[in-house]
Amino acid sequence: MSKKFTTGATLLLLLSLLAGSLVFAQQGAATLADNNTDALKATDEILQIVSKLRQLEIKQPVKRGAKTRDEIKASIIHDLDDSNTPAEFEATAKTLKKFGLLPSQFQLRDYTIRLLTEQVAGFYDPKTEFFYLASWIPLAEQKTVIAHELTHALQDQHFNLKRFDKWPKGDSDAETAAHAIAEGEATIVMFQYDFGEKGIPFDVTRLPSLTELLLAEGVDNDEKKFPVLSNAPTVLKEGLQFPYFYGAGFVQALLKKGGWSRVNEAYATLPASTEQVMHPDKFLAKELPVKVELADLTATLGRDWQRIDTDINGEFGFQLLLGEFIDKAKARTAAAGWGGDHYATYENKTSNAVLVAQFTNWDSLKDAEEFFNAYSERTEKRYNSKSASFSNATSRVYQTSEGWVILEWRDKDVVILEGAYSREQLQRLSQQFWKSKKSAA
Ligand SMILES: [Zn+2]
Repeated sequence: MSKKFTTGATLLLLLSLLAGSLVFAQQGAATLADNNTDALKATDEILQIVSKLRQLEIKQPVKRGAKTRDEIKASIIHDLDDSNTPAEFEATAKTLKKFGLLPSQFQLRDYTIRLLTEQVAGFYDPKTEFFYLASWIPLAEQKTVIAHELTHALQDQHFNLKRFDKWPKGDSDAETAAHAIAEGEATIVMFQYDFGEKGIPFDVTRLPSLTELLLAEGVDNDEKKFPVLSNAPTVLKEGLQFPYFYGAGFVQALLKKGGWSRVNEAYATLPASTEQVMHPDKFLAKELPVKVELADLTATLGRDWQRIDTDINGEFGFQLLLGEFIDKAKARTAAAGWGGDHYATYENKTSNAVLVAQFTNWDSLKDAEEFFNAYSERTEKRYNSKSASFSNATSRVYQTSEGWVILEWRDKDVVILEGAYSREQLQRLSQQFWKSKKSAA
């Protein structure tokens, strides 16, 4: 659903969570005189500590450096361009706009760069095996960032993080889940390091869910400290936080189950979905998503249309999709019945009209019904349509200012099409789209 920076970043907001009242160094404030900061000199010593905390041996020393804000920004741009073509970025933006998650004029790539430039406090680059520290980070926080980045270096030495950066296209739900284990783990080790340095006992296995604790902190709304993050659309803000907040709760649950060796095993069998990350019990029970092979709508749409994007929203994606327009608790409950999904976005080359077709599968009939009703409510708010043109227990049709919309519920599946130019076309598309095929993973 959203575009990711390289696997190994530390976010400033994490430091903020740790420090409580971190004095944020403004852009243009004094940067370090040279790249050989005291903190960087402590890298080898911190690596020893992190290696003990994480129970992973050091296979080789870790290369390090510092980067100015401009250099970090250049790395972010390079990394984004490396993993997404401008056309792919644009296609994602069109889908998110059609979903009503971004304003119509929103510049996704530019905002993503600004957001990451504000938030990235350091990162580990699996390609070069270097970690970089943002040179403007307050000295007191530098070692904490280094502990986080060295965790990524050890992950890479043992479990190969390069594969995370070359993720196959078309399943960003699984990609987000994979990032969540790496970031959740690095966040926990960073906490352990920080508390250890302060002499405070810290045992995550004795704490309630770290996800709930981190979500409750809510530092993302501090406009003075984080102007870009605090003003970001929810899909970007929560998308950026997901691997850290939900990943920490996920890794914590694995630690409770079987310590670091259980976490090690999870690198061989990665979490397959955000659902598994959000509900570690489903990961441990090996509850895999239902895969959906979408029926092609190109022929039904006509030759002016082309498919520009296809992806999986996942439970987390549906929590965002619903929660943008309806009560958040209700959205969370409705999304929790997720069994699998797949969507495709089509664009009309002449008019630039956009159509999104979603095939969704739910764990039970009751879950499908709950989602059907929640998405109906979302649709009415999203398009400001007071009532459906047609409505019965299993089908809703809406005429909106952005085309015709249909929701159809059959058994444990719900199909949604948004953006047809006529009711007649909507029916033909839906008939074709129900030919999509499901298979257990
Ligand atoms: Zn990280």
